Amino acid sequence: MTPRKSGAGADQRTQTFRISFKRTLAAYLPARMYLRYKEFDWVNIIFMTGMHLAVCVGAFRTPFQLKTAIWMCLYDYLIALSLTAGYHRLWSHRSYHACLALRICLATLGAGSFQWSIKWWSYKHRAHHRYIDTDLDPYNARKGLLYSHIGWLLFKDEGKRAGKIDAADLNEDPVVIWQQRNYVPLSLLAGIVFPSLVASLWNDLPGGIVYASCLRVVFRWHMTFCTNSLAHYMGEQPFDDRHSPRNHLFTALLTLGEGYHNFHHEFPNDYRNGIEWYDYDPTKWSIWIWKQLGWASQLNQIQVNETEKSRLQQLQKRLDNKRATLIWGPDLDELPAIEWDTYVEEVKNGARLLVIEGVVHDVTEFMAVHPGGRAMITANIGKDATAMFRGEVYNHSNAANNLLSTMRVGVIIPRNDGDAGDSHTSAVSTGLSR
Ligand SMILES: [Zn+2]
Ligand SMILES: [Zn+2]
Repeated sequence: MTPRKSGAGADQRTQTFRISFKRTLAAYLPARMYLRYKEFDWVNIIFMTGMHLAVCVGAFRTPFQLKTAIWMCLYDYLIALSLTAGYHRLWSHRSYHACLALRICLATLGAGSFQWSIKWWSYKHRAHHRYIDTDLDPYNARKGLLYSHIGWLLFKDEGKRAGKIDAADLNEDPVVIWQQRNYVPLSLLAGIVFPSLVASLWNDLPGGIVYASCLRVVFRWHMTFCTNSLAHYMGEQPFDDRHSPRNHLFTALLTLGEGYHNFHHEFPNDYRNGIEWYDYDPTKWSIWIWKQLGWASQLNQIQVNETEKSRLQQLQKRLDNKRATLIWGPDLDELPAIEWDTYVEEVKNGARLLVIEGVVHDVTEFMAVHPGGRAMITANIGKDATAMFRGEVYNHSNAANNLLSTMRVGVIIPRNDGDAGDSHTSAVSTGLSR
């Protein structure tokens, strides 16, 4: 959006004006106020505020005709597609190749969104991916919803806030260079003049300016900005939860399919964002259609094996987290080792203990609520109850095994007296090997 004069003379004059303007402000403003003034991007603030005001004031004075409304929606869709399929998936991520004519169309329409040049947009976006959720991420979601949505645009970064990235390929694309050099006339032509002239075909030039141009630009700003804000706050994280991006149908609906943002940050050079056939991703469908028409080629698509690995690892992480919230009883290697004779002695002294597979369990509280009755447990106190528990009387359920684990208090030390026929020695070996 920053105006760029063509030619060395114009650049020189602009630079001289900036320097003298800054010196004047520095001379007349108190130091603290001057420093604050320098932090803001006044070009963006004035332009973006002006567009919002133009929509508000214009909407009061201009009737909204149906034909203009339909045209506004249609043109907005094309402009949005030039951002998602062009600025984002083609130039920022090189997820497919596009023919020259398609690149020119995307670059021209993209300028009509007033979202700055391809080069500027892609540079920031690559920094966002590379330095996600850090101070080097230009629209760092950790700084708040409002900051990541629009606040970051109101501050000058002066090359400090955005981290360094490789943008050599952008400088090699003649369409990117051409758009950069002609950004102002292109954006005015595609963003204001063309949509207004089309509306004048049905004698609604004012509606063309207010709705098909200004309202459309403001609307698409906020929809696009939702990818940086809402898509980092709302939704699920099926592929990775270490960073903020999330998947949500709502943000996908606002952004022509960019709302599957958790997938996108994991696999940024995939031409798709929604990978399921039912995912709302019109940008993916458009790129696929362009391929069928011969306008696009080399569509990058990550293998299912890779996406499923990420999905499975994230699922496992969730299961592990859930498992950590439950009481499973102590691990066997955490339990004290107990001699068989000590175990018998403890029982003689009144402890309610029984051994199953070499592990000593304290059943004092459980005896009264044992579904099989108190007598069954009482009969096995001080003995090896492995056979009883494992099926001699009743083969206990998985739930019963889980509950039993919470009653563990010790592990029987296997005897080394060579008595292979000792029943509890073999049971101990079985238990310890688990
Ligand atoms: Zn993001
Ligand atoms: Zn991206």
